[in-house]
Amino acid sequence: MTDSDTSGTLFIVSAPSGAGKTTLVRLLLEQDAHVRLSISYTTRAPRPGEQNGREYHFVSVADFLAMKERGDFLESAEVHGNYYGTSRVWLVEQMRAGRDILLEIDWQGAQQVRRRFPDAVGIFIMPPSLDELERRLRGRGTDSAEVIARRLAAARDEMSHVGEFEYVIINNQLQEALGDLLAALRASRLRLARQRARHPESFTPLSQE
Ligand code: ADP
Ligand code: 5GP
Repeated sequence: MTDSDTSGTLFIVSAPSGAGKTTLVRLLLEQDAHVRLSISYTTRAPRPGEQNGREYHFVSVADFLAMKERGDFLESAEVHGNYYGTSRVWLVEQMRAGRDILLEIDWQGAQQVRRRFPDAVGIFIMPPSLDELERRLRGRGTDSAEVIARRLAAARDEMSHVGEFEYVIINNQLQEALGDLLAALRASRLRLARQRARHPESFTPLSQE
């Protein structure tokens, strides 16, 4: 199955850790009822307040590797020392039902998904600066100094892949960035192939001429 066989759109959202991806996606889901978020599997320990099945499916390394071996993941990667992966079954089911889907994954996962679904729409969220990124990571208060240092070091690497994405949102003022994100989703849903798949009745008269 390719993306073109369905009327839904597959969105990939990537960002360096701390840029505000989770915050923006949460606000987006409140305002856009048409898009569903894929809940990834991870071997990372839950942060305070995170619930199994809500932010992530939290699994052991052994379980993750067994799932990977079985081919359960559409894509998977090691990010900041932990494994993360996207459920293949869930995604295919949702796509068959014609739903819009959003994946919050890193650049390695984005590359794997693009190979399988070339029509996927890539959106990259940038922090206004690296200093602000560090402030946000510290301000979030969920990670140790060592984890923050590791994520900051990885930020430049993540950002070096921005050229692989179609839309870029600079998350300076939160509400403005949210507006930009909503606009990117809206614009990409208006692409010719998507409109053709979603509204075949509008295109039928053209094919009869
Ligand atoms: P990510 O999911 O990309 O790692 P988060 O959504 O957890 O990032 O955001 C990191 C921190 O930055 C959080 O404390 C969040 O409240 C804060 N934050 C997000 N967006 C903004 C913004 N536009 N301005 C200021 N702080 C922000
Ligand atoms: P966090 O631990 O802060 O929730 O996420 C760390 C990084 O892992 C982020 O860059 C996030 O996009 C990435 N990530 C989360 N889920 C997945 C996934 O299923 N696949 C891949 N490749 N990356 C993921």
